[in-house]
Amino acid sequence: RVLVGTKVDENHANWVTAYNMLTGIRVSVSRTNAKLDRPLTDADFEVKQKSTFDIAGNELVPSAKYDFKFKDYAPWVFRHLRALFRLDPADYLMSLTGKYILSELGSPGKSGSFFYFSRDYKYIIKTIHHAEHKFLRKILKDYYQHVSDNPNTLLSQFYGLHRVKMPYGKKIHFVVMNNLFPPHKDIHQTFDLKGSTIGREYKEDDMENNPKATLKDLNWLRRKRHIELGIQKKQLFLEQLHKDVRLLQRLGIMDYSLLIGIHDLQRGNEENLRDKTLRVFSPGGDQAPEDFDPNSVLMRTPSKLENQRKARELRQMIQSEKPVPMAETSNRMPDELEEGQNRPGFVFNQDDGGFRATHEDNTPGDEIYYLGVIDCLTHYGIIKKIEHFWKGLSSDRNQISALPPYEYGERFINFISGVTMSQEEAIREAQARDAA
Ligand code: ATP
Ligand code: CA
Ligand code: CA
Repeated sequence: RVLVGTKVDENHANWVTAYNMLTGIRVSVSRTNAKLDRPLTDADFEVKQKSTFDIAGNELVPSAKYDFKFKDYAPWVFRHLRALFRLDPADYLMSLTGKYILSELGSPGKSGSFFYFSRDYKYIIKTIHHAEHKFLRKILKDYYQHVSDNPNTLLSQFYGLHRVKMPYGKKIHFVVMNNLFPPHKDIHQTFDLKGSTIGREYKEDDMENNPKATLKDLNWLRRKRHIELGIQKKQLFLEQLHKDVRLLQRLGIMDYSLLIGIHDLQRGNEENLRDKTLRVFSPGGDQAPEDFDPNSVLMRTPSKLENQRKARELRQMIQSEKPVPMAETSNRMPDELEEGQNRPGFVFNQDDGGFRATHEDNTPGDEIYYLGVIDCLTHYGIIKKIEHFWKGLSSDRNQISALPPYEYGERFINFISGVTMSQEEAIREAQARDAA
């Protein structure tokens, strides 16, 4: 589970799928954003907009390299969601479709979902199961309301819900969402926490091969880790987490986790540049292509002005409803990588795009946390009920991960609250434990 993807280019097995996804996004998002903004109606939540792409094109749909069908779900709702999350429409399209380059993480979870990063590493495309797709459409209004009421929600930020279908091919549903981890900072350790211990372990023996692996609850406990926040930040974090979990409980969702990426300020950022160039350019990860020279890449970084010009052009094209042309491919580093990912105004992104560890007296600690609740589209449906039944026969009922939503949420909140404390608190607790 290394967070270094494989570049998806024309030789990649999933190139056509990736190309079709991005073309569909480009056309449908610019189509919606070209129109004058208006308030949402109830009907907007139900909309499915279908486009048929082919080599010829027509007055509604520009030509594409391949034949495929694309469906855009609730486009106006997602336009408003992107605005609530303060994405700039032109930047969004540039990041995803400016160069038609993604990097593929493959399928890191058990679910079989595929993950793709946008070229600048800001966005993730996750393919989802049809049941998750239907479920997201069902809860979209509640989700939208929650995001409006809670701009600092820790839940995954959904920016689009789409489907591609190739001729005679199967239907692929996918969401576009935020990458919790910043393009510009090394993440030294990653944890995926559910508050369960059964099966929640990354085998530490494997760490040698994969030092950037996503660790789990048992690894966390073994390291006696804490989320070190002072009184105020802790309160902000836990209050928001409570509100988010209440929603998930009400909607019958379980199996989600808190994903935490930790940047260690002492270790700094030495790997970042090298890593990033590999992420963008090198298929397979550890070997750069033969003609690859990191210095030349840095020198070819486009100026900010150049990028602003491009964004302006794109904005104009969106406004004039002209199809956005496919950009030429080049090997330049997107300069968003250097610019950082501060999201001004969002509480949990206030410190270099994340949330910095804090002591009890409010002085800053040595780590920055990048965190959020992910994988929150699993409804406690029939499959989970069956799983619960089988696992329940053999294990302690409270420890298995397939609990009903209310219990799942309580266990989750208890666990996260339990490990969220200041360093001082953690020391006092350890002393009390030793004394007992
Ligand atoms: P499963 O259902 O087996 O848990 P899944 O396919 O639904 O797997 P997720 O749990 O959503 O996958 O994610 C798997 C891993 O991908 C996470 O542990 C994390 O390392 C990475 N990941 C997922 N979402 C994000 C995100 N928004 N930002 C950064 N990394 C992510
Ligand atoms: Ca998961
Ligand atoms: Ca999942």
